[in-house]
Amino acid sequence: MTDSSLTKVLQDTASQMNADLFGIADASCFLDPAYTGNRPQDMMKDVRSVIILGVAVPRGAFESLPAGRAEYTNTLMAATATLRLIAFQLARLIEKNGYRATIVPTEGSEFGYWYADRETLKANMSIKYAAYRAGLGNFGINHLLTTKEFGPRVRMTAILTDAELNTEKEDPLPLVNRACSTCRKCIAVCPAGAISEDGAIDRHKCADYMFGELGGLRCGLCVKVCPL
Ligand code: SF4
Ligand code: SF4
Repeated sequence: MTDSSLTKVLQDTASQMNADLFGIADASCFLDPAYTGNRPQDMMKDVRSVIILGVAVPRGAFESLPAGRAEYTNTLMAATATLRLIAFQLARLIEKNGYRATIVPTEGSEFGYWYADRETLKANMSIKYAAYRAGLGNFGINHLLTTKEFGPRVRMTAILTDAELNTEKEDPLPLVNRACSTCRKCIAVCPAGAISEDGAIDRHKCADYMFGELGGLRCGLCVKVCPL
């Protein structure tokens, strides 16, 4: 049975801790054959809900790119640290209510995104897909989540839990943001040529550029130019 009171406590706590985005996806969405990434069920066998938390990244960090790459990277890592604190607090609350919880690694954590699978560079599970299914936004052609309020300028994390929480029931947005069909700015700006016209992204090209040429500093140009 859905635990509505726990859902409300988690939402309120996230809000008090200044999370800008909060959403819950039914974990079964990852069993949809259209989803081709790694699944949370591989990490937590009896996972029922995926909680998404997000914070907006200050615009100043993008406006200073590319000269301010170190500042941009540091700002992203500050967002990752902030999300960790919020997620840990929520995970503790979930367990105090008799359920289990674990926090998914995100880009910018020592164990996140780029480090999960060296071959495919796919994350342990797609937090962006969970956020899409939770109704928080849809995908840009740059493969980032585009949100109504902050466009792609968000940082996110996720909590897996066996608690059955209230999930989004509204009609889903189209998978890809309609604005992308007439924009294509991220394709043109990408210095690594990682984003294709057909919407495919070459993760290795992006990673090689950031971890090779930039020595680990993040690039962010595809976010900077996005008008959303
Ligand atoms: S820059 Fe343009 S094409 Fe790229 S994600 Fe943003 S809106 Fe879509
Ligand atoms: S972060 Fe930079 S290299 Fe990676 S896809 Fe975006 S623009 Fe291209």
